[in-house]
Amino acid sequence: MRRTFALGVLVAAGVVSLAAYQQPPAPQGPKIVQAQKIKDNLFMLTGEGGGGNTAVYIGANGVTVVDAKNPGWGRPILDKIKELTPKPVTLLINTHTHGDHVSGNVEFPATVDIVVQENTKTNMEKMQIFKDNAGKGLPRRTFKDKMTVGSGKDRVDLHYFGRGHTNGDAWIVFPELRVVHAGDIFSGKNLPLLDYNNGGTGVEIGESLAKAHAGIKDVDSIITGHSTVMTWADLAEYAQFNKDFLSDVQAAKKAGKTADETAASWKPADKYKGYTIADARLKTNVTAIYNELK
Ligand SMILES: [Zn+2]
Repeated sequence: MRRTFALGVLVAAGVVSLAAYQQPPAPQGPKIVQAQKIKDNLFMLTGEGGGGNTAVYIGANGVTVVDAKNPGWGRPILDKIKELTPKPVTLLINTHTHGDHVSGNVEFPATVDIVVQENTKTNMEKMQIFKDNAGKGLPRRTFKDKMTVGSGKDRVDLHYFGRGHTNGDAWIVFPELRVVHAGDIFSGKNLPLLDYNNGGTGVEIGESLAKAHAGIKDVDSIITGHSTVMTWADLAEYAQFNKDFLSDVQAAKKAGKTADETAASWKPADKYKGYTIADARLKTNVTAIYNELK
């Protein structure tokens, strides 16, 4: 009886989570944070079941954190940062609204400034976790297209180049180090998750990625949403991959193929070998783009 009830609750929680973020519920295990050094004062924090990659930038006066992972991961992130530096966390930026990037926000001290793209703030305000925490962890400040926070070794530049994964995908640049955190608009070399509930688009994502590649200067390395660190050339390739996918789908639709037929026959060009093409994601994205093109 008790077991059945517990399973029912788990299933219900999974359904809610899927509806809200189109992602599976966060696994419940020990929350062990690993720090990968990218530069002397920049680390990428990962952890099994934690969700998106977190960046920790140690500036002259304080620490900037980008993304705060799944529920319950805020404290483990803050504990790991204490091992890396005695400086206080002063700024938290979220790349976009998803639960595996923003939920840890609620565990950050109220003194921490939180900044996101303005559409992401609107999206975050609808999330249950912030309602449950009386608004704690919601952003104080927003930007529309570009914003600079801090100066010199504390400088962080925030950019928005248009819709893609959501309608609020921010690009966070550490100009001193020539590194950017791209969040899930570039989660890895794969077919992107397009979150239409939060303004995502398969028609515009390639263009938004290309605009970021053209608009951000003097960057060599990219912290992706969920994969390894990539190069600036990888971003150009990923933008083209998404543009090519769109034109392939457009051509198939024009030729009279159904979405299912297109998904069943589509293959990436040889130059994109190594890209992860999940069948379910392929079918979802083809269908979504067909709907967008109507
Ligand atoms: Zn996401």
